[in-house]
Formats: sequence, structure tokens, C-alpha cells
Amino acid sequence: MSDMITIAVSKGRIYDEAIPLLAKLDIIPKDDPKKSRKLILETNQTNIQILVIRATDVPTYVERGAAELGIAGKDVLLEYQGNGFYEPFDLGIAKCQMMLAGLKKANKTYTRPCIATKYANITQNYFADLGQQVEIIKLYGSMELAPILGLADQIVDLVDTGETLKANGLVPLELIANISSRLIVNKAAMKMKNSIIKSFMQRLSKVIEN
Ligand code: AMP
Repeated sequence: MSDMITIAVSKGRIYDEAIPLLAKLDIIPKDDPKKSRKLILETNQTNIQILVIRATDVPTYVERGAAELGIAGKDVLLEYQGNGFYEPFDLGIAKCQMMLAGLKKANKTYTRPCIATKYANITQNYFADLGQQVEIIKLYGSMELAPILGLADQIVDLVDTGETLKANGLVPLELIANISSRLIVNKAAMKMKNSIIKSFMQRLSKVIEN
């Protein structure tokens, strides 16, 4: 069996914050994905390569063994419905919060609120735990628009600085989850490539602790 380890990393902020962590393990990509069109990045380590892909695709690649390891936000992992990977580490990067938010001027309670979100499963589970019925409208971006235009009463979205909510007249209402990026590991690879993955995890955990 090949000793190659493929790490699937969410593009954007998570990639930008994961690369310095990997550099501390002396894993350095040969190309910059912002300048190169390559989808598979070779690294200075001949047996390690990095995929830079959409956040929502990372669990799929790892669950199905196309990548042994992945780095993805907890938001994506909570939303993903699968169990084909281990989640051994909180990397403590790309921190933000999953929030319920609504119009500042709304100030009312809803018997069956209509919630716009990209995170339908997280939203469903959150309201089910509260024993409250909701209607969910699935959107793929710019959720903040929905309450402004009357498409929904409230939204569930990631909030970092809170500037986007504020700029659109919205306020955070409830914290649903604290979010950060996690290492995920394909279950079969953990057995088949145990020594190399274990050594990677041990070195990574030391870097995170410091
Ligand atoms: P902010 O204005 O700093 O609160 O950022 C909020 C906007 O950035 C929203 O549109 C979010 O969907 C997005 N966002 C915030 N944090 C993250 C993250 N860690 N990953 C992806 N998108 C994020």
C-alpha cells in the first residue's frame, strides 16, 4: 500500500490559518493556491500532499478515503450527516460562532419562526432540542438579506466580528455553537496507515499545545 498521505483542507480562511500549523511540522506546500490552479499541492514532504477544496466537500473526501486526513470547520462537521471519520483534534483555528440572529427592530416572539440558513440540519436540531417548531428556508449565501426583505423572520449563520450583522440592521439572539476547525481522520486509514498518522497527530498535538 502507498505511504502517501493526502490532507484535504477547506479553502479560504481555514487554509490560511492551517498552513502555518503545518509549517511547524515542516509540511510546506510547493505552490500557493491563490497563484496556482493546481488542485493537488505537492509539499516538501514527498509522501504528503494537500487538497484545497470547498469546506463542505472535506468530510466527503475523508469519509470515502480519497483523503486520509482533513481540516474542516465544526460548522461543516455538525451539518454533515456521516460517521466515516474520527475527529481527534480541535485545532483552535478559524474560530467564530454559530448564531441565531434577527432584525434589531423586530423585537417579537414567533410561534413558528421561519429561519433562513445554509445550515438546515444544525438549525433543525437546535429548535428540536428546544421543542419548538420552525420552518427552514435553505439559502447558500447572504443570509442577512432574508429578514430585511421579509423572506424569513430570523437567520442562523456564522458570526465572527459581528460587523456583517450590524451593517444589515441585525442582532445576535442566541449562541448555537462555538466553532473552530478540527482535524478529521478516515477510519480505515487510521488502521492501515496507523504509524504515520499517529506520528502526525502526536506532532500536531504538541504544536497546538504550545
Ligand atoms: P463578521 O462580519 O466578521 O461577523 O463575519 C460574518 C460573515 O462571515 C458571515 O457572512 C459568515 O457567513 C462569514 N464567516 C464568519 N466566520 C466564518 C468562518 N469561520 N468560516 C466561514 N465563513 C465565516
